[in-house]
Amino acid sequence: MSDKRIFLSLPKLGGDEQKYVQKALDENWITSGGPNVNEFEKDLEEYLSKNVFVTALNSGTSAIHLTLILLGVKAGDEVICQSMTFSASANPILYQSATPVFVDSEVETWNICPEYLEIAIKDRISKGKKPKAIIAVHLYGMPYKVDEVHAIATKYGIPIIEDSAEALGSMYKGKKCGTFGDFGIFSFNGNKIITTSSGGSLITHSKKLKDKAIFFATQSKDKAIHYQHSEIGYNYRMSNVCAGIGLGQMKILDDNLNAKKEIHDFYCDAFKDVKEITVFKNLNQDYNSNYWLTTVLIQSSKNKSRDILLAAFEKANIETRPLWKPMHLQPLFCDFPYYGNGVSDDLFLNGLCLPSSPSLSNDEKLRIKSVIDSL
Ligand SMILES: *Cc1c(COP(=O)(O)O)cnc(C)c1O
Repeated sequence: MSDKRIFLSLPKLGGDEQKYVQKALDENWITSGGPNVNEFEKDLEEYLSKNVFVTALNSGTSAIHLTLILLGVKAGDEVICQSMTFSASANPILYQSATPVFVDSEVETWNICPEYLEIAIKDRISKGKKPKAIIAVHLYGMPYKVDEVHAIATKYGIPIIEDSAEALGSMYKGKKCGTFGDFGIFSFNGNKIITTSSGGSLITHSKKLKDKAIFFATQSKDKAIHYQHSEIGYNYRMSNVCAGIGLGQMKILDDNLNAKKEIHDFYCDAFKDVKEITVFKNLNQDYNSNYWLTTVLIQSSKNKSRDILLAAFEKANIETRPLWKPMHLQPLFCDFPYYGNGVSDDLFLNGLCLPSSPSLSNDEKLRIKSVIDSL
């Protein structure tokens, strides 16, 4: 057996990517926007739902930033954000010189806690500022408590930005994640479910908002024969070359999703006799995670802990990683308001992400299994 490093999440190519990239090169359409971009957007719309408009962008981060711009978030405004997430969920709040207000997770989906969300909203309102938006995340592809979270958002009239960067293909009550919120976003970075090398998309529910998003994403050019600008512009549109990769990737999206489920099943089986370790699973039938990464929680004991497990895998040249470090614990964000009771702190200390590449081979599974059996 080879001892080549096993990585956490590698991209997998389907075979048609080259064809579409070649088409862009042949047509000399190398800039942002273009036929591949339009087609990629159409494919995504068909995949997600008839009622959404997709705007392809150069990253998931720029998609989140554009949602804040479209919502008119300005300096001094407050935006609620799930604390347990990747920093890209929260950074765009700072791009707008707004204030992030962080909310803890609940233990069942590891996502934004409805109770603390409402406590946070009430407290911010009592302090004189109603939050301008809520950024909720389907972390590791696991849907957040959509009904509960959206009921609270509706009660207070606050729009939801659904960070579905990790959740392409995940479903809640049979509906695709990314289509519930006022806005949704996806990432097509190299480590996500499908990739465009770097890329993202913004999901809106009207053509008007999509047009406005494209306006901002292409330097906010006013209608004129010369270059004229009345608003701040951004260079956020997806390149036609990258969209070619995306078109090829759409053809293997279902294969990737099946592979992720199979990998999750493999880990459930491999850990079934290790009583201190629980594989993170769908709470019930309403939840259908894409299992972007399979993750586990380790109940610390004398010979089992997150760090012991990580070291055992590392010794076998297998990459694992702690869960996302919550934003309220990050040096950059720790001075901003936070509402919670330490759930995400505990998850961070005791959770681990396991290799989940769709290309994970049987040999690699055997190597992983032998580490687990040696625990
Ligand atoms: C990857 C990711 C993003 C950012 O996407 P990029 O395409 O890398 O900019 C945002 N939020 C979450 C939760 C992510 O995992």
